[in-house]
Amino acid sequence: MGVGDPVMLFNGRDGEWRAEVIEAGKRGGALGCVARTRDQGAPPDLWLMFAPIRKQRTDIIVEKAVELGVARIRPVLTEFTRAERWRADKQRAHAIEAAEQCGITWVPQVDDSARLSALLDNWDADRRILFCDESLLGAASSLAGLPRGPWAVLIGPEGGFSDAERERLRALPVAHPVSLGPRILRAETAAIAALTLWQSALGDW
Ligand code: SAM
Repeated sequence: MGVGDPVMLFNGRDGEWRAEVIEAGKRGGALGCVARTRDQGAPPDLWLMFAPIRKQRTDIIVEKAVELGVARIRPVLTEFTRAERWRADKQRAHAIEAAEQCGITWVPQVDDSARLSALLDNWDADRRILFCDESLLGAASSLAGLPRGPWAVLIGPEGGFSDAERERLRALPVAHPVSLGPRILRAETAAIAALTLWQSALGDW
């Protein structure tokens, strides 16, 4: 880009700005803000917790979670998680790209991976969990009547949840087990379906 070229900027705090290049060097440059074009937006208080899978499929989950409006992305290691290493730095860059692409003014927080059991040990009693439980395959599920507020969608790995994990989750008063229909979905499809379901019933759609 050269001096005078227009650029749109956001930093997650001050809305969106129209700017222009005021210096363009080989090693760096400078942008000058011209006018604020949009107020700062914010997503609903929704987290996506999912067990990382193969890289390309994990990339899809992160990208679609940003597009579908989550506030935080929390990879969880479950008993049957068999994934390549979770690269939080790469996924943060990926989330920024997705945010730019879909024209939002924030970037969801992208966490390092953590054990599901450890997260549940310290779980905030105000945050409900939409527990996508493949063992409920085909059961009727509805989000009607559930309260708005802080939520987390939980998706398991390719191998599903272990019996012990399922039992623990079902015993949590904040967990709401749901079926995502009569077919087993791949984890990335399940994440997209569950976020869509939640957004249309309890989110900002
Ligand atoms: N290996 C498991 C099996 O055959 O039962 C399937 C695991 S599925 C590929 C990965 C995750 O997607 C599950 O742990 C669950 O969270 C979610 N999922 C997929 N299909 C679902 C469905 N029909 N209902 C609820 N959750 C589903």
